[in-house]
Amino acid sequence: MDVYLGTLTRMVTDDSRNSKSEDTPVDGDSVSQLLKDMTTVRFKEWYQNREFRQNIRDGKPYFNGPSSVPPSERHSPSKLLQCHRKIYYGQENAPEEQDDAEGILWTGRRIEEDVVLPFLQDVISTDQTFVRNSMWIDFDVEIQGNEVRIKGVTDPVLVDEESEPLLPTEIKTTSSIEYKDSPDRRHRAQLHAYMAGLSVEQDRNPTEGVLIYISRDTFEMKVFHVEFDTKFWNETVLSWANTHTEYRLSDNLPPAQPEADWECEYCSYRERCGKGDTPYADMSPKAFVRLC
Ligand code: SF4
Repeated sequence: MDVYLGTLTRMVTDDSRNSKSEDTPVDGDSVSQLLKDMTTVRFKEWYQNREFRQNIRDGKPYFNGPSSVPPSERHSPSKLLQCHRKIYYGQENAPEEQDDAEGILWTGRRIEEDVVLPFLQDVISTDQTFVRNSMWIDFDVEIQGNEVRIKGVTDPVLVDEESEPLLPTEIKTTSSIEYKDSPDRRHRAQLHAYMAGLSVEQDRNPTEGVLIYISRDTFEMKVFHVEFDTKFWNETVLSWANTHTEYRLSDNLPPAQPEADWECEYCSYRERCGKGDTPYADMSPKAFVRLC
């Protein structure tokens, strides 16, 4: 017991810390060891281990393994209007050829939660309007004789006193906002899915939303008002979803035709697809692709 009390006293007094450093000066070997341990590999191992444990603590252990293959008719709002082939590879669990842009995703979440959400709560909401962090949407729509299902979660939604949706938002962080003069079609599609889904599931039918772009570098913000456009929803968004369901059902690799070429630059399936530097092209999601 004496030893225990003595140890405790040494730990909590400043004097003891000083004397400890005098007793055991840091030598060159200790510094060398610290430098040796501070490596890319150690950081990667630590980060992956931390994410693994966090997913378990959050009750989401399924994030620690391969995703389950979603049903053919199901679509996520954030994937609408993207390259059919890229989405197909992702849904069928084709191995990714590069790490996810974790840093960009993390920064986006932090800016949304620590900057934009407080702005909406402190400045935009009133005594009669409030901000909900997010709302689930999960609804079926019939299009050209087929049923598609859209399931996902919104960004912050301005709601009334009954917590019914008034104005959904979609927040996008971006590297450059200077030349952003109009909203991206895919982001409009995402916001349309929120408006349609909230109208199905809630008493209010929101027909307006806002797209908020914020610069990761400068925190400059641009806001675009988006009104629900039935033609765009039916003929562009739902038509895309229906086409994608048909690719999945027929098990046909969709064509390599993204709406914009830049989509290929950031794609995790470039080599498998045929847009990379290797001789591979049009490979199935299960085919083996040697990258080095
Ligand atoms: S490389 Fe381009 S065309 Fe191929 S899957 Fe990716 S985004 Fe689509």
